[in-house]
Amino acid sequence: MKFSITSKGDHKSESIKALIYQYLTDFDLEYNETEPDLAISVGGDGTFLKSFHHYSHRLNQTAFIGVHTGHLGFYADWVPEEIEKLVIDIAKNPFQVVEYPLLAMTIHTKDKKSKRYLALNESSIKKVEGSVVLDVDIKGEHFERFRGDGLCISTPSGSTAYNKALGGAIIHPSLATLQITEMSSINNRVYRTIGSPLILPKHHICEFKPVEENQSFLLTIDHITKSVVDIKSIEYQVAEEKIRFARFRSFPFWKRVRDSFISDER
Ligand code: NAP
Ligand code: MN
Repeated sequence: MKFSITSKGDHKSESIKALIYQYLTDFDLEYNETEPDLAISVGGDGTFLKSFHHYSHRLNQTAFIGVHTGHLGFYADWVPEEIEKLVIDIAKNPFQVVEYPLLAMTIHTKDKKSKRYLALNESSIKKVEGSVVLDVDIKGEHFERFRGDGLCISTPSGSTAYNKALGGAIIHPSLATLQITEMSSINNRVYRTIGSPLILPKHHICEFKPVEENQSFLLTIDHITKSVVDIKSIEYQVAEEKIRFARFRSFPFWKRVRDSFISDER
């Protein structure tokens, strides 16, 4: 089996990376950064997101696992103290796989080009200056005209991140859905949006179309931000692709939610 390690780059993460590297190569596993079967990230959820985007072109071949060197993460859910047990498991046992849904975004620009991206947490549509004004279509039908700071479209596993800060619901990742949340929508007698987060099932495409001409938008995809002009529309749906996590022990989603947000005491 081939493995790679992405580190956050700080002293602690680097030394854990070196330790894992040493153990796994001692077990005769091959270090391969371009074509790993298992991509290990050491740092936080942010480091895991980077690792995901690095290998998002080969999700069928690469499974992921995260070790955290700071606070407990949703993706980085192994602690450094568990490394020896983890390494032995990786070396000795074929791993089980758990799949989580992803978000697919396609940006169509006025020059008739389109670009597709995958997000593990979410994508958001914002602007540096002025309000975001968008026509929102769901399944090809006009739904509303949004005016406000922006919109966030999140995956189930991303529902505990930006989405949660925007008042969205926490969604169990066994549900193949996407969730749309608003950022400070303008609501008065002239402008009206739904106001509540929306949860869409698989195959329901939502589309956002800029209303005003010559606008530049800030589009985020997880930790990445892009400035895009001349947008015709932005389309989102639950992706066909899924992320595969290497599973060596049970750590139920609701327990991660409790440990992260409520308390890790029993
Ligand atoms: P960051 O500023 O370090 O991330 C913000 C926080 O979100 C960090 O504590 C990060 O954990 C945590 N996080 C990442 N994914 C999560 C998940 N699925 N569930 C719960 N918490 C999660 O930037 P970053 O590390 O590059 O992460 C990018 C993410 O930040 C974006 O995808 C977005 O979800 C989130 N974000 C949140 C807000 C907000 O809450 N107001 C605003 C902008 C962006 P680590 O410390 O372990 O990295
Ligand atoms: Mn971070």
